[in-house]
Amino acid sequence: MSYLAATDPQIADIIEKERLRQLNGLELIASENLVSRAVLEAMGSIMTNKYAEGYPGKRYYGGCEFHDMAENLARDRLKELFGAEHANVQPHSGTQANMAVYFAYMKLGEKILSMKLNQGGHLSHGSPVSFTGKFYQVAQYGVDEKTEVLDYGVVHEMARKEKPQIIVCGASAYPRTIDFKAFQEIADDVGAYCMADIAHIAGLVATGIHPTSVGVVNFTTTTTHKTLRGPRGGAIMCNAEYAQAIDKAVFPGMQGGPLMHTIAAKAVCFHEALRPSFKEYNRQIVKNAKVLAQTLMDSGLRLVSGGTDNHLMLLDLTSQGITGLEAETALGKAGITVNKNTIPNETKSPFVTSGLRIGTPAVTSRGMKDAEMREIGNYIATVIKDIRNETTIRDVRGKVEALASRFPLYPE
Ligand code: PLP
Repeated sequence: MSYLAATDPQIADIIEKERLRQLNGLELIASENLVSRAVLEAMGSIMTNKYAEGYPGKRYYGGCEFHDMAENLARDRLKELFGAEHANVQPHSGTQANMAVYFAYMKLGEKILSMKLNQGGHLSHGSPVSFTGKFYQVAQYGVDEKTEVLDYGVVHEMARKEKPQIIVCGASAYPRTIDFKAFQEIADDVGAYCMADIAHIAGLVATGIHPTSVGVVNFTTTTTHKTLRGPRGGAIMCNAEYAQAIDKAVFPGMQGGPLMHTIAAKAVCFHEALRPSFKEYNRQIVKNAKVLAQTLMDSGLRLVSGGTDNHLMLLDLTSQGITGLEAETALGKAGITVNKNTIPNETKSPFVTSGLRIGTPAVTSRGMKDAEMREIGNYIATVIKDIRNETTIRDVRGKVEALASRFPLYPE
């Protein structure tokens, strides 16, 4: 980054500090990952210089021949990866991918049925503080109070009563497998569309480790930066019959020029995800999550729903007498980055919470495996159980840095 350092030493210094934070700590935020050098290079390329409003072969600007090639590659690779009939790789983010589906298939004031934010759903699924809660009516399902997993019978009953236009499934903080087929059957029964937002589990779905939603539900939306391990961005997949309306909703419906450097990086991400090693990587993400979950439970901590099927777990801190905020802060001081999270039947505000969300995609990208997950689980338990002891936290920080130093940020 020699040009940057010469031109803008302040930003260069901030980026270097952030590099060291990532290098010396353990990133356990479930929605984050570490991209490959190839993805980074495409992101930082001259593809950012071009306006390419429109779609390949139908642009509103000249000089788009190479951008057409890049976007076609991205679309074709995404279709191959998920077995989709149609793919749109232009949404700038996951929220915008969701927005495009709503705009394409709902009138303002119609109803969304989706998962409650404080039980695992996402802001863009109908929260009153998001455009979704302002433009649409919203009805929401949660998890069963006892089992803490989805009850499809309850969702079905709600769908019959609420008569939504779109049923949204998929979550930001749900550690269990989602039955997309069941959701589409419910939607079919009540004459609704079904949208699966697989942002969190896209890598698991692409590799067949989680059952797919593509071709099963009407619309699948995703981000590309979580388990898929690509640049920050969104994408939509659907059958050919919905292609035109979805493409129109993305552009010109709600975006202008696509971020072509990001689309080039998405193409690289999908290429990497098509390699056999990506399946191995996603298998290890889930294995690591299971080992970490077991280590935490063996140390006497409670996990929502008693464990995990995917890349994340939710730690319930109620019995420890501490909040998610306190745990997030103490673990942060120990070099372990996690986020406070609401849990089912939450009694505290989203700024405080009774839980922590913990995920394994980023540490798995660094090459960490079962043995390291046991170490990390023990560090987390040690800090949580002795949360006011600065000496304990400092001691754990030393061990975290020693562990992190054995694993590069870019194994490839
Ligand atoms: N959908 C789900 C399930 C998510 O978890 C997230 C982000 O965490 C999003 C959508 C939104 O993605 P973005 O932050 O790119 O808008």
